[in-house]
Amino acid sequence: MRGELEMGHKVSRRTFIKTGVAATVSGLFLGDVTGGLLPIETAQAASVSHKSNTTSPDVIVVGAGISGLAAAHTLQKNGLKVVVLEARDRIGGRIWTDYANGYPTELGASWMHGIQYGDPIPYLAEMYELSPDIVSDSSQGFDQLYRKWTENLDIRQNQVVHQIHHDDSSVKIATYSDVFQAKYGVVTLPLGVLKSGSVTFSPELSESKKTAITRLNTGLMNKLYLHFPYTFWEEDQKTISLERLNGSKDEFLNLYKYTNLPILLGSFTAATAASMEKWSDERITNQVMEGLMQKYGSSIPLPTVSRVTRWGSDPYALGSFTAHSSASSAEDILALGESVNNRLFFAGEATNPHHSASVHGAYMTGLREAQKIISLA
Ligand SMILES: Cc1cc2nc3c(=O)[nH]c(=O)nc-3n(C[C@H](O)[C@H](O)[C@H](O)COP(=O)(O)OP(=O)(O)OC[C@H]3O[C@@H](n4cnc5c(N)ncnc54)[C@H](O)[C@@H]3O)c2cc1C
Repeated sequence: MRGELEMGHKVSRRTFIKTGVAATVSGLFLGDVTGGLLPIETAQAASVSHKSNTTSPDVIVVGAGISGLAAAHTLQKNGLKVVVLEARDRIGGRIWTDYANGYPTELGASWMHGIQYGDPIPYLAEMYELSPDIVSDSSQGFDQLYRKWTENLDIRQNQVVHQIHHDDSSVKIATYSDVFQAKYGVVTLPLGVLKSGSVTFSPELSESKKTAITRLNTGLMNKLYLHFPYTFWEEDQKTISLERLNGSKDEFLNLYKYTNLPILLGSFTAATAASMEKWSDERITNQVMEGLMQKYGSSIPLPTVSRVTRWGSDPYALGSFTAHSSASSAEDILALGESVNNRLFFAGEATNPHHSASVHGAYMTGLREAQKIISLA
């Protein structure tokens, strides 16, 4: 990485880069084609924003998942000016509620788990302002968790961060179209993204952070939603058991029981989830349909909607959640969450030593890092 981020730029590239920002909407990396970086005031006009009037932020938060939004909301509530940079054309990260079919479909997280352990409950109660046992139901998407925080937040979507520089007085964060500067930075990049090296740090990350990134694994879960014209399975059962995509048995959740909609939801991990990354939607759906036909007969209807996720190849996740390897320990998670020079702070599920791989764990790290900055500011 260059020692210092470039702040001066070629005017002739502006039009091209504005077009390029639009290209990121469809998930394309601009890579190095943009070459230099644009001055902040130029490219701000090209970014999508909930509220883009924060000219000189105190804090830049990288990532608009639950941890980044919790941090940003808390910081702003405490009087700090915050800008959130998000690579995607949507917020929520690994919480992804899709409304395309007229009802909320959870393509990422959908359940609160771990709440029986006690300590997250106060956080959850605050998070929901609802009873903690109300999880994603048919009328409320999981995205309702954070929607109310975002109303007055300055969130710049389609801003793919690729360089993070910090020194004694500031952080400078470069996307493929802008450079943003602030007093503090909060990095919530998923472990998979950190592993990929697509975002470079200057100075480089400490050895303990680099070791943690290497040792920790990313676990994979992928989902398959099948919406049928009508139910042909046992409506009162929570799950139905089917031939798994790779031959063994698997359970499908019967969403009819909870939503009155004729939907089956498969959540797959390990080898099956990995196969789903490579297989076409058609192949996956056909294989499940074979299992359904074996069980319920060949006259069952075809699904009207089939949705498959591929979190492992999603460039802004590169995995579903953090998992320990035989070489990793809680020390690695602690190292990943250590702040650097009271300037750069690290949040995200991968930095929660007790509740990684969860929504509430990610949320707690956002609050944790926000509090650190509030005590310094
Ligand atoms: C299929 C699936 C099912 C799950 N089920 C559950 C569940 O039922 N219950 C549960 O508690 N947890 C579940 N999880 C885990 C949970 O979703 C995550 O732990 C949590 O949402 C992570 O939040 P986060 O803020 O740490 O990261 P993220 O939500 O990933 O936020 C990070 C943000 O950074 C952005 N980003 C990435 N790269 C860049 C870049 N270069 N520049 C700018 N922005 C970037 C991403 O787009 C993202 O918005 C599930 C996850 C998956 C994938």
